[in-house]
Amino acid sequence: MRKGNDAAKIEERVEELLKQMTLEEKTQMIHGTGFFHSGEVKRLSIPPVMFSDGPMGVRQEFLNDKWIPKGYSDDFVSYLPSNSALASTWSRELAAKTGEILGREARGRGKDMILAPGINIKRSPLCGRNFEYMSEDPKLIEEITVPFIRGIQKSDVSACVKHYAANAQETDRLMVDTIVDERALRELYLPGFKAAVEKAGTYSLMCAYNKVNGWHCSENKELLDHILRQEWGFDGTIVSDWGAVHRTKEAAEVSLDVEMSVTGNFDEYYFADPLLEAVQKGEISERVIDDKVRNLLRMMFRLKMIGEKRGERCAGTYNVPEHREGIYQTAAQAVILLKNEEKLLPLEERNCQKIAVIGRNAEMLHAPGGGSGEIKALYEISPLMGIKMRLGGNAKVMYAPGYFVPEKEQEDENWQADSIELGVVQERQDEAYFLEKERQQEIARREGQRLSAEALELVKECDQVIFVGGLNHDCESEGMDRSDMRLPYGQDALVEAILKVKPDTVIVMVAGSPVEMPWEKKAKAILWTYYAGMETGLAVSDVLFGRVNPSGRLAETFPVSYEDTPTAENGQFGLMGRVEFKESVFVGYRYYEARKRKPLFCFGHGLSYTEFSYDRIEIVEESNHFTVEVTITNIGKRAGWETVQLYTGEETPTVERPIKELKGFDKVFLAPGEQKALRFLLSERDFGYYDVGRRSFHANKGVYRISVGASCEDIRLVGKVLLSQDYDYR
Ligand code: BGC
Repeated sequence: MRKGNDAAKIEERVEELLKQMTLEEKTQMIHGTGFFHSGEVKRLSIPPVMFSDGPMGVRQEFLNDKWIPKGYSDDFVSYLPSNSALASTWSRELAAKTGEILGREARGRGKDMILAPGINIKRSPLCGRNFEYMSEDPKLIEEITVPFIRGIQKSDVSACVKHYAANAQETDRLMVDTIVDERALRELYLPGFKAAVEKAGTYSLMCAYNKVNGWHCSENKELLDHILRQEWGFDGTIVSDWGAVHRTKEAAEVSLDVEMSVTGNFDEYYFADPLLEAVQKGEISERVIDDKVRNLLRMMFRLKMIGEKRGERCAGTYNVPEHREGIYQTAAQAVILLKNEEKLLPLEERNCQKIAVIGRNAEMLHAPGGGSGEIKALYEISPLMGIKMRLGGNAKVMYAPGYFVPEKEQEDENWQADSIELGVVQERQDEAYFLEKERQQEIARREGQRLSAEALELVKECDQVIFVGGLNHDCESEGMDRSDMRLPYGQDALVEAILKVKPDTVIVMVAGSPVEMPWEKKAKAILWTYYAGMETGLAVSDVLFGRVNPSGRLAETFPVSYEDTPTAENGQFGLMGRVEFKESVFVGYRYYEARKRKPLFCFGHGLSYTEFSYDRIEIVEESNHFTVEVTITNIGKRAGWETVQLYTGEETPTVERPIKELKGFDKVFLAPGEQKALRFLLSERDFGYYDVGRRSFHANKGVYRISVGASCEDIRLVGKVLLSQDYDYR
């Protein structure tokens, strides 16, 4: 009731303010007047909205109209686990905690809106921004996104969920027309955003660069007006991606509220003077601007930026020890043990008095790269430092890079200054360029050989070898896609050679998206971490040496090779101009299961140092839902987390449907011998598909399989339910 009164009061205040504003003042508010803020109206004490990236922490300060960092010493921040790492925890609690940390840091730095989380579906492993995104599965995305947003907004900071919608490649990212069928849109690409609006109450959302079905997202009536505003009832602020607006009238007359961009000519933005003039000439109605200002003011009241509650606004804070502790917890639960033959892990500290740590990623810092997700981190613990921190000074930890990572050329400008050309700029084709490229490749080849030989010498001398390789932000970043899924810098040959000398080598991969592992059969232990923030190295080290029992689970499928992926089959990825999502709803495990194609590591996979038995499943039909109860027991010797996953599947579908779809999961901690009963509630919504003919979700009456297990392949308990009638729902 109170909330209703508050909302009504806010609407009243919004109208009062709006009435006092001139057209010029209103227009000032709805576009960037700096790279990271909108315009203010001093006369009425309406401040600018201060934005900042992004999902992994608050970005450093830039000059107002040049992509030059201010170079302050007070804008170092906590570097948070990327959204890919966070989703691998499968933990709603950690998602909430991470969101809270991000919100507090943002507010602590004086921001009003943090441009996070990134929740696009991982359609292809090659998308350069996958590390910023969570998963290939809409249910997992929803379950992580909702607490994350609520966590952020607790600090009176707006989340800005991005990139709406179907933003799945970086190639030609500003212009590419994404052709996606309605069923795939509704079943895969939209549910995360819908939950962000309806369940999390996000105050803001960012429209993507790309086109969807012929229209730029910034001009897309279907996405912005019909679905977001009308169907989902979104009354918050829609911000454009930076440079995603291309025309004044078309963008102004849909529900986009604020235009942001990357160039310093703020008065010339489409929503600045051109819009003002169009309204003055009567080509666009002033009501269009009023609606945008209303949405902004409403958000500002909610954030206590204006109004009587101003004095009560959260102050936030940054760089405090509690944030680092929370970041460590998430990083530790994000580490995924992919393989552990002969129980090679955890390593015994006392057997590791002479360790060779091989691989550039052991010492490489990832915070400063990746595009807009870059972080000026207070610190970042590398795996090498993490190992040394834990083993102390008596152990001999020797490091060799093993492979050669060329220094990145110093760019004259920050990449973002050129970012509206990214993806369209063709590589140089002249002879001088090719000659220089060849020369660089030759240097890299020779350096690579030298480093590899040196590493192999070191390997022979040591009693334990840990290889730390993977990717970095030179190979995966905003503004570029990968061209293949192979490990760069000759790492495959190096790993093979090391395993030949020392078969007990532990392989640690640090990366933001899957890589092919042609040596997987020969490796006994493989540990995976995404870019997991400032404590990554310590988290990895603690899993290696058993202080932490690993509990991360894959939030995406790791295919054997790129050729196995849906986008390789249909050729619809990384194209210029137009890309058609021909695989429809068959993305990720939905595709591999339908094709009966065994991946390298499946969705939901991740091992523990203990084992769990799945003992019993009981399904009870109640008036409007089913209760599925399962019992699991820790039958090993160590305490640990298990992530119990529940999938549903229709026995005799009337349209082609995935065999299994994730509909529930629970992460539980069990002491050795401890048993727990877990409950999942399923409603008709957990069984349907989007019926294009009906233009709504539809669940057929009939029999459905319930599969419960430790991954989408490792199903331990099965049951069936009967839906006794058809259901339609939106
Ligand atoms: C990215 C957004 C980011 C924005 C502001 C764009 O290049 O696509 O994700 O929030 O820049 O830096």
